[in-house]
Amino acid sequence: MILPGATLGLLGGGQLGRMFTIAARTMGYDVMVLDPDIHSPAATFATEHLCAPYDDKDALARIASECAAVTTEFENVPASSLESIAQHIPVRPSATIIRIARDRILEKKAIRNIGLDTVDYCVIKSESDVEKAIKKISFPAILKTATLGYDGKGQIIISRSSELRAAFQRLGAKPCVLEQHLDLASEISVVLARSVCGHIETFTVAENRHENGILNMSIVPARLKPEVHGNAEKMACTLAEKLDYCGVMAVEFFVDKKDNLMINEMAPRPHNSGHYTLDACLTDQFQQQVRTLCGFRPGKTDLISAAVMVNILGDAWEQGTPAWDELFNNSGVFLHLYGKKEPRHGRKMGHFTCVGDEIEALLKQAELLERGLPG
Ligand code: ADP
Ligand code: MG
Repeated sequence: MILPGATLGLLGGGQLGRMFTIAARTMGYDVMVLDPDIHSPAATFATEHLCAPYDDKDALARIASECAAVTTEFENVPASSLESIAQHIPVRPSATIIRIARDRILEKKAIRNIGLDTVDYCVIKSESDVEKAIKKISFPAILKTATLGYDGKGQIIISRSSELRAAFQRLGAKPCVLEQHLDLASEISVVLARSVCGHIETFTVAENRHENGILNMSIVPARLKPEVHGNAEKMACTLAEKLDYCGVMAVEFFVDKKDNLMINEMAPRPHNSGHYTLDACLTDQFQQQVRTLCGFRPGKTDLISAAVMVNILGDAWEQGTPAWDELFNNSGVFLHLYGKKEPRHGRKMGHFTCVGDEIEALLKQAELLERGLPG
């Protein structure tokens, strides 16, 4: 057990790292964050910011010697950095899991090996795999780079098989997965926390709306039959157990018109679709990250009230400072800003969450507030 007063290491200091850092410091821990960006959103709250690349030997050595344990806020930290730290202190989730979660090929294979469903897919590593993929996958399809994709980046929708070769080239002829493009009924996610000893707590299933591949809104509880909630929670727990996962994990699902669930991907960390837990749950996902990192069991995840979370992108600044007062004029609306200086198009700058009793009313309120935000 790692007790308050200890220093926790954090690789990656974006908004997820910032909210982890706030939780950890509130609970009495110090936080050392490694992030090459001098404007790292987490650094403001960290005890110390090591402003260096993720493979910087001195920085990694300091984390290994001064921290009690280390966690990450994103998957693309070099595996070698995690492995070198793991020789000295616990890394949670493990380097092995992060290696799987960052690579769509390994990730889908691991999910299938456990016996859980994914959408039909095919691996394309070189031009010579293209013909085989055309025979196996029905179109429209979606081609995704195996690594480094996020918020819909590194993906191309392909309507006809004849477009596949060019699309593969456009993505740099790097290893890819080709997935069948589904006509989705909805998308949902389960965020869970699992301790070193195997205690699991799941948060209420979120229904997620995306715009241009970026999460726009999470509606909680998801408006689906109770048995679909149950199935999603069960599948997410099975995945965490079979991987002997330790930490916070998000599992994204596709739901088809017959309420079948397919796992889209997993995130080995807190997730954007779990931000509602900050304002609507007994424990939030970042407190769970601290608790599981430190060897404790996750806290209770009861949903206190229904919630709709809306992402605020840089686009909201197009006509100047967004109309924050509109948000604060509502007593059930909670604003979170990540301290980012430059409001670029599509950049996640913050989010707000509407909490209340009636989900359809919350949804209307959220949509209205979102439309009114840009000045
Ligand atoms: P990212 O890593 O960018 O989140 P995802 O694989 O989750 O990548 O894709 C982003 C979004 O694109 C999904 O949330 C979904 O809305 C859409 N999408 C991705 N794959 C498919 C698919 N096979 N069928 C239908 N929609 C998809
Ligand atoms: Mg996704």
